[in-house]
Amino acid sequence: MDGDQHRQLRRRRSEVSEHGTISRYTNDKCRCDDCRAAHRRYSAKRRAQRRELLQDDPTLVEHGRLSTYLNWGCRCTECTEANWLHKIRWMNG
Ligand SMILES: [Zn+2]
Ligand SMILES: [Zn+2]
Repeated sequence: MDGDQHRQLRRRRSEVSEHGTISRYTNDKCRCDDCRAAHRRYSAKRRAQRRELLQDDPTLVEHGRLSTYLNWGCRCTECTEANWLHKIRWMNG
């Protein structure tokens, strides 16, 4: 199969695939309401899973970082502080 055929096949497949799925959002970069809602659900679920992991083993990530606060949902003193520092820096430009 050459590249063109492959692309056509992919396009055809993405035409029939449903909206409101995470693959539609990430692979096809669709931003319709359904796909955005699917992405939101997916991110929320993943964050919840990460938070559970972190509760089991807090040493999984480095603390005192904004990304830990945001992506892992960590609310320990250090991460909360990192979030505040970020906000203050952002407010001061
Ligand atoms: Zn869509
Ligand atoms: Zn933390």
